[in-house]
Amino acid sequence: MKKIGVLTSGGDAPGMNAAIRAVVRKAIFNNIEVYGIKNGFQGLIEGNIEKMDIGSVGDIIQRGGTILHSARCKEFKTDEGQNKGIEQMKKHGIEGLIVIGGDGSFRGAVKLTEKGYPCIGIPGTIDNDIAGTDFTIGFDTALNTVIEAIDKVRDTASSHERTFIIEVMGRNAGDLALWAGLADGAESILIPEKKDELHDVVERLKRGQERGKKHSIIVLAEGVDNGFNYAEKIKETADLETRVTVLGHLQRGGSPTASDRVLASRLGAEAVDLLLDGKAGKIAGIQNNQLVNHDISEILQKKHTIDLNMYQLSKELSI
Ligand code: ATP
Repeated sequence: MKKIGVLTSGGDAPGMNAAIRAVVRKAIFNNIEVYGIKNGFQGLIEGNIEKMDIGSVGDIIQRGGTILHSARCKEFKTDEGQNKGIEQMKKHGIEGLIVIGGDGSFRGAVKLTEKGYPCIGIPGTIDNDIAGTDFTIGFDTALNTVIEAIDKVRDTASSHERTFIIEVMGRNAGDLALWAGLADGAESILIPEKKDELHDVVERLKRGQERGKKHSIIVLAEGVDNGFNYAEKIKETADLETRVTVLGHLQRGGSPTASDRVLASRLGAEAVDLLLDGKAGKIAGIQNNQLVNHDISEILQKKHTIDLNMYQLSKELSI
């Protein structure tokens, strides 16, 4: 293999730039040419492709977002769209592709691999919702952003003796809420994988009030409910007032943490090694701090599992 491509697709995540840098530098180190494809699969279809060199990934390791930009592209879900992408790869002599993104992006990578163009996936999403890897690139940064925000909300919660519901991202996964809730000592954590009954949440709030607690934090994963709906339910059930903070897109931004930069560097370099070893349709991941790879098609059929021991611990520590 002499020429490879790299793209970022789906939602952006802090650390994607560090992964791009690792792919480009590791490839050049191995005398492989690297082409950057802008705007994900949309850019592949349109031929928005540029050769990258060592300098084109300089000064990006610390930056959030993705210098290659990202997009969602419906056309790529069709045979016609995929064939257009393959035409562009042929035109540029690109023999293999590294796709940094979430599960949707990996479905695109599987399609290209099935059509004879080997792809390797790198999990880049703040949701930490990909099976076969303990962590995805961007999760740690988003987690730290959430914690910083909750710490600030806690100041006002305690000054005004209020209960706050903090709605955090994660799509259908509860990792961000669980880790943030545990790290921030939240009174209740609501995750899609383990639905807490409303009466239990209310009981915990009341118990806290009875023992003189001045404020409470409820961390709510977006996959469970919308913060305002949940506040309404608490009001209807127990006549308790809560305030709602929806953290929104600020969770996707910012300079990646050391952990995310290191993870992105390791996975980026590993993805190049896998391509050079003749592997195709694989996802590079990390499990027990060891680099691993799995078939993407297998991973797409599995659900990322959340650590329910951590959930139990959070309950025990916030009695
Ligand atoms: P995030 O988890 O951040 O949303 P994602 O990679 O799951 O990231 P999606 O929007 O689901 O984001 O997918 C990104 C892109 O991957 C889509 O816009 C589309 O171009 C491509 N894609 C998704 N599903 C398929 C599929 N079944 N076949 C081919 N391409 C697909």
